[in-house]
Amino acid sequence: MTGKLEGKVAIITGASAGIGEATALALAAEGAKVVLAARRGDRLDALAQRIASSGGSALSIITDVTDETQVKNLVQKTNAEFERIDILVNNAGVAFVGAIDGANTSDWRRMIDINVLGLLYATHAVLPILKAQGTGHIVNISSVAGRTAREGISVYNATKWGVNGFSEALRKEVCKHNIRVTIIEPGLVNTEINDHITDPIAKQRSEERRRLIAPLESEDVAAAIVYAVTQPQRVNVNEILIRPTQQEW
Ligand code: NDP
Repeated sequence: MTGKLEGKVAIITGASAGIGEATALALAAEGAKVVLAARRGDRLDALAQRIASSGGSALSIITDVTDETQVKNLVQKTNAEFERIDILVNNAGVAFVGAIDGANTSDWRRMIDINVLGLLYATHAVLPILKAQGTGHIVNISSVAGRTAREGISVYNATKWGVNGFSEALRKEVCKHNIRVTIIEPGLVNTEINDHITDPIAKQRSEERRRLIAPLESEDVAAAIVYAVTQPQRVNVNEILIRPTQQEW
């Protein structure tokens, strides 16, 4: 397999479904060795086999991004296996949306743990390796919700706003080390993210909203990520905002 990412090593969190799965396939198709991280090991293994059967290279490492030790293990195992890390796609995320009043606050903690702290742990764990290499690329999956607030998704908004703020500060800290940082902000994408919403009213509203327009497919977002990570080293695509054509909000 030859491609623009031949010889590169990419870690993708949340690779067991949706955008992460599509990104792993797309990066592998460009020749990257991909390391697949998520909690559902059976799905990671099935994806790794799929990639291997098309001539690619994939390693699955069960990882809960809310556990800093597991995240460190993911990074250390990757570096031990491939002796480098070129790309980290911080994609694992959940959207336990719903009104603030009456919310189950454990949903908020889970969302902040996964969407924000998980991304911070992975970034923290890879940085010494990227700095020592003098190169690397961190791709943080934010959302339209990282720049447009809506009633009913407030804490998801807060997590993605957090991702955007962190990413821009990170870029300023690491650009002098030749490390790139990209924020990807998708609108509605056709994935299983909605299935995990715990608030039944919010889930129904979200499903109705999704029926109004033709959403993006995960492959559309993966293509944006491939675009960002295949630019020449001098080019840092800072931000990609990508909405379905019919999405007005
Ligand atoms: P999916 O629900 O399809 O996939 C989510 C992925 O995150 C799964 O692989 C899941 O794996 C993983 N994940 C969840 N919790 C954890 C955890 N604790 N540790 C490790 N992995 C975890 O969602 P999407 O593909 O839609 O979402 C991917 C990203 O895109 C998220 O950050 C989301 O916020 C963002 N996004 C999604 C949009 C959409 O409309 N779908 C729009 C804008 C942004 P597992 O359960 O196996 O651990």
